[in-house]
Amino acid sequence: MFNSIRVRLTLWYLLVFGSLLVGFSSYIESSLARDLREQFDTSLLRTSRTTANYFSEFVERKNVAGGARETILEMKLEKLGAAIFQGNELLATSGEEVNRAMRSAGSRPAPMFTTDPNLHKRLVVFPFQAEGGKYTVGILAPLNELEGQIGRMRNIILFGLPAAILFAAAGGFLLVRKSLEPLVTISEQAERISAKNLHERLTVANPNDELGRLAAIFNALLARLDASFRVMREFIADASHELRTPLAIMQGESDVALSRDKTIEDYKQTLHIVRGQTKRMARIVSDMLSLARADAGVQHLRVEELYLNDLVEECCQAAQALAHPKGVQLAWEASDDISFRGDEELLKRMAVNLLDNAIHYTQPGGMVNVKLTSDQSLALLIISDTGIGIPEECVGRVFDRFYRVDKSRARAAGGSGLGLAIVRLAAESHHGSVDVVSQPGRGSTFTVSLPLQT
Ligand code: ADP
Repeated sequence: MFNSIRVRLTLWYLLVFGSLLVGFSSYIESSLARDLREQFDTSLLRTSRTTANYFSEFVERKNVAGGARETILEMKLEKLGAAIFQGNELLATSGEEVNRAMRSAGSRPAPMFTTDPNLHKRLVVFPFQAEGGKYTVGILAPLNELEGQIGRMRNIILFGLPAAILFAAAGGFLLVRKSLEPLVTISEQAERISAKNLHERLTVANPNDELGRLAAIFNALLARLDASFRVMREFIADASHELRTPLAIMQGESDVALSRDKTIEDYKQTLHIVRGQTKRMARIVSDMLSLARADAGVQHLRVEELYLNDLVEECCQAAQALAHPKGVQLAWEASDDISFRGDEELLKRMAVNLLDNAIHYTQPGGMVNVKLTSDQSLALLIISDTGIGIPEECVGRVFDRFYRVDKSRARAAGGSGLGLAIVRLAAESHHGSVDVVSQPGRGSTFTVSLPLQT
């Protein structure tokens, strides 16, 4: 139960609201009761003053007919529930109770209030002077009505308070439920989304409120996941496709070799083909592994001090073995020493891939030019050819994995479509970049920029 935000929020709301309500009610109750008691005492004081005035008049008008006057005074005192003393001597009283109460209270110079808990009555003792004599008036008033009033008010608060808290709890629960409704919808929708329907998105009711922003962030995350899942799926499909070709060739060749007896030369020929395809597969697998490691962020560069000009020259010399038989002229401009810190193996793969491509996609009689320059901060490797070039619409995609402009021709030439992806990986691993400018039918220029302070 306490695992539900709805319940927890309602309980918190109840605790805060309930404490406020209890505090406020007890403050109201005590101040109202105090006011009522004060009002009661004020009215008692007023009555005792009236009584004192009446008695003063009574004393001043001694000459009015005796018996009748006293009877009127007695009646008046009876009505007010009052008694009058001169010193300790009782002059007039409305009854024994007030007489006794006044005697036990004694006379005081100022008005005095006491409560008799046995009689449950309030006594006011009010000293006054009349015709030079000192008198005290005392009034004993029942507290029943006052206590009844206070009790009724207390009952209203006592019964009203739990009811108010109950209503607040129900209201709070409904409020919390209403405000969490979009969250429940979001979680239900999110629960339905799996790898199979990553293209689905959460509905965003109000994109500007907190939950709308949460849903938008979640949707952006889904979009990124969807994109990387798509890339992964395509990668797996392309990789399987690429590996199928050498495997099919190997299987076909071995089937033919095993179908009937052959000469040693034939077997050697088959083994050559199998070895060639194995090399091709090994290259594809190794390229895939490098790319996968880079994607996972676990690519380890073996960084060492090297000279870029030596490295490129070495690759050019090796590439001559490919260019020469094809009748492609490979020209290499010797450059000054360019010292660089990087992974020699990866940089070699980068240069070899670019050179292989330049030679592959250049017709016999064409030219491949290699230039390496540097300034204080940057080394530039520029490999240009006079080959077939790349159509404008494909230029932006040649660095994508398994992308080939002419699939059948490139595959027949032994390409896997991973060569330029490795070039980009190598450049970026060294904080650099690679660019291509190409004109179909006239040739392409690939430029690798490598920052020197790596
Ligand atoms: P591949 O192994 O097929 O050569 P790459 O990733 O190295 O794969 O190259 C991708 C595609 O880019 C190639 O299939 C080819 O169509 C095009 N390409 C690469 N280099 C050149 C170039 N120098 N001239 C023309 N096209 C090129």
